[in-house]
Amino acid sequence: MALLELPDYRDTTVDVSIIYGGRTTVPASYVVKTPIAGHVLLDMPCYSFLIENKRINKKVLFDLGLRKDWKEKLPPPSKQHLYLKPASGYSSMQNMMRHMLTAIELRVLNQIESAKAIMDIEQDVADQLHNASVPLESINAIIWSHHHIDHTGDPSLFPSSTDLVVGPGFKRDTTTFPGYPTNTDALVTDDAFFGRRLVELDFSDAVTIGGFLAIDFFQDGSLYLLKSSGHTHDHISALARTSENHFILLGGDIAHHPGEYRPTEHLPLPIEISPSPLKEDTISISTCPGSIFEAISPANSRGSDAKVTPFYELNAGMNEDLGDAEVALEKMLPFDGSAKVMVIIAHDASLLDVLPFFPNSITEWDIQGYKAKGAWSFLKDFVGAIDRSADGST
Ligand SMILES: [Zn+2]
Ligand SMILES: [Zn+2]
Repeated sequence: MALLELPDYRDTTVDVSIIYGGRTTVPASYVVKTPIAGHVLLDMPCYSFLIENKRINKKVLFDLGLRKDWKEKLPPPSKQHLYLKPASGYSSMQNMMRHMLTAIELRVLNQIESAKAIMDIEQDVADQLHNASVPLESINAIIWSHHHIDHTGDPSLFPSSTDLVVGPGFKRDTTTFPGYPTNTDALVTDDAFFGRRLVELDFSDAVTIGGFLAIDFFQDGSLYLLKSSGHTHDHISALARTSENHFILLGGDIAHHPGEYRPTEHLPLPIEISPSPLKEDTISISTCPGSIFEAISPANSRGSDAKVTPFYELNAGMNEDLGDAEVALEKMLPFDGSAKVMVIIAHDASLLDVLPFFPNSITEWDIQGYKAKGAWSFLKDFVGAIDRSADGST
């Protein structure tokens, strides 16, 4: 196993809070390849993160979740014409993939709308900051992990002094820039850009961290933005230093469910899982054997060791470039296995009960033990597949 080299400490850390930015619910089959029996729906909360560098008095937001007025303001699902547009209009395989992705997104949106089901956002991130007496003027930048609607929120609620930071390739791709309605192909709205500085990251002078190209955002080693394209062309992740020796890796949509990156040789399935994910039992259970989840892992049918192979594989339909997405996710695995790093992807529902949300902070995640508490919590999504008679829990 290659040793993960984390960047040197340069006397500066950041504080991190996780903000609940609404949630969506989608069929699991749209998101992961071959869902485990009983894992029908994927509950996808949309997380935003407030990151504060107190030394230089700067605050940024990484992602914004959903926007409250999405029904009125988003590029309309009537953009379904994109779905029907003949593939001959697309010159490369990559564009074909994007074509498919758009189709899937629209199908999800339409299905959710017709089912009157969940695209649930009560309070924009901007409202939550305001209610917690964090002035919007104090937010120096909004950083989008990528351009999808469950991440872009509503930057127009922020003053023009707040920059909008996007990943490489954003400005030259017609699905991202300019925005809708100026550009009817765009999946983002123009109002995000009006009157504000739009900064597209340039990784040409980047350093490398764990195989990712990385930009030292505050130039003091406290926050790195990582190039992690694949899910989309403009996708980035972030590595925030929360103490001299600890980091939080904000994955964005590098994966959509922890089963896509756990277990691995870096973070094997424990022999005893504690706390037990079988919480719905009436009997109080503190631990459960890892073997009951090992037995139901689709990795077995792929001929892999289920103790060290993720339950799920990435789904081609969810990623513009599946190969790049797999490479990016592979790079993240040593971070996930390191005791110095806690990984949080944008839609990890298993952390809803584990982490304290804004205005609380998750900066002291290592001291509070959030990683140990949350790493296997996602297994509760698979309980439907377990033969309860074989459940040897204590
Ligand atoms: Zn996405
Ligand atoms: Zn997303």
